[in-house]
Amino acid sequence: MEYCSTRNSAARVQSAQAIAQGISAEGGLFVPCEFPQIDYQMLCELEQDDYAARAEKLMRLFLTDFSAEEVRDCVRGAYTEQKFDPSPAPVVLLNRSTYVLELWHGPTCAFKDMALQILPHLMTRAAAKTCDGKTVVILVATSGDTGKAALEGFRDVPNTKIIVFYPENGVSPMQKLQMATQEGENVSVCAIHGNFDDAQTGVKEIFTDPAVKQLLASHNMQFSSANSINWGRLLPQIVYYFSAYCDAMNSGEMDYNGEKINFVVPTGNFGNILAAHYARKMGLPINKLICASNANNVLTDFIRTGIYDRNRPFYTTQSPSMDILVSSNLERLLFDLTGGDACRVGAWMENLKTVGSYEVDDAVKQKISELFYGNWCSDVDAQATIRQLFETEGYLCDTHTAVAAGVYEKYVRETGDTTPTVIVSTASPYKFADAVLQAVTEEKQAIDDFAKVDMLAAVTGAPVPEPIAALRGKPVRFTQSCEVQQMTDAVLSMLNIR
Ligand SMILES: *Cc1c(COP(=O)(O)O)cnc(C)c1O
Repeated sequence: MEYCSTRNSAARVQSAQAIAQGISAEGGLFVPCEFPQIDYQMLCELEQDDYAARAEKLMRLFLTDFSAEEVRDCVRGAYTEQKFDPSPAPVVLLNRSTYVLELWHGPTCAFKDMALQILPHLMTRAAAKTCDGKTVVILVATSGDTGKAALEGFRDVPNTKIIVFYPENGVSPMQKLQMATQEGENVSVCAIHGNFDDAQTGVKEIFTDPAVKQLLASHNMQFSSANSINWGRLLPQIVYYFSAYCDAMNSGEMDYNGEKINFVVPTGNFGNILAAHYARKMGLPINKLICASNANNVLTDFIRTGIYDRNRPFYTTQSPSMDILVSSNLERLLFDLTGGDACRVGAWMENLKTVGSYEVDDAVKQKISELFYGNWCSDVDAQATIRQLFETEGYLCDTHTAVAAGVYEKYVRETGDTTPTVIVSTASPYKFADAVLQAVTEEKQAIDDFAKVDMLAAVTGAPVPEPIAALRGKPVRFTQSCEVQQMTDAVLSMLNIR
């Protein structure tokens, strides 16, 4: 299996290089040159497996430069019962033909764990193959969920170090506490006096500074990235779409003889829903992929008009992990839908960079509208959805999942489609206890964060995930903060190489 770049279809690398390098030299994203096919019989075989076995079988098809043992070790090291309680991706029946796929049973209670628990295993093996035993230094700029999930994934992984920068006033109190109390000997966390963009820009500058690169190399270290455009984060996400289909088949509620189903995906950077599109390319019977956005509804407009336009106000919403105006992984979809036309994709991305917008041609528009449905939900709609799901179905969901459930309701109203549907749930309600409690009790509570967790548990009876409960009273390890201009110095002193 070879990978090419969305900006240069002649570039060819193996999976280890795609994962170790993260992004292609000319700025494109790595994509598989072809997609292995899973037929109905193989699907039925997967149905008999547990999650780790499904992951092993599916990921092996893409990691052909890894040995079978290596893939097994990666998968078995990541999806353990100890880390994912009760299992990595359980499917819950909501009502007659609607399911919820819960992707937040990992160590940080958000779906980023599904990829970031296995990425360190893939990354260290990829690095051993491509950059002879150097220590990999992961730099992350985060607005909350990714930083914590990456810290937890890379903690105490041999031959790696991880450094996370977050905006001092740009993450929720619970997210800040999750990062500040992070355990592990190879982790560092630093707040910056600036916003998320400042953190991101600072990290990019450190990455590309030749002097810093040289200094790291002289200490047998090299930078890598754990952000969501890395193929090593996308690949593990394909697995749970197959897994959800198998579990729905298994549930006995419906007769799934290769019957098609819909998935509704709360979307930000377009990584999660792109993995679903890839699963469909591999033969998973999917009818519509329903792309759910919050008030930052750039993707809704794109799916409906073929015009991507980031020149619009940025809203801070109650589903912060979807507050994004440039969905990087969309580039991979466009590459696929143009039949691998790197020139056309490159031109659109250049327009996005220079004027903030682009318009795809009619053929691509047509394909997008066949494959996807897009809509969005305001905070008010999402709050109403949380309340209604809890009152009518007894199911408590977080603010991101609520956006998906709200959009699904609009989809059914608009289309009358009765295809069985899986709503993808991306975070525990307790991670956003403030907004969820407000939705359930219909008023804002002026109490501290742990009191909100307690009150939400008392009002709803939904169990508090262990990692959230364990935060209480955990010692704070990281209180450091710095100016944006000092980020390079901070990195060097955290690595002890200055
Ligand atoms: C990251 C995230 C999303 C968005 O996923 P993308 O792959 O960026 O589209 C949705 N919900 C939660 C809770 C997240 O952390």
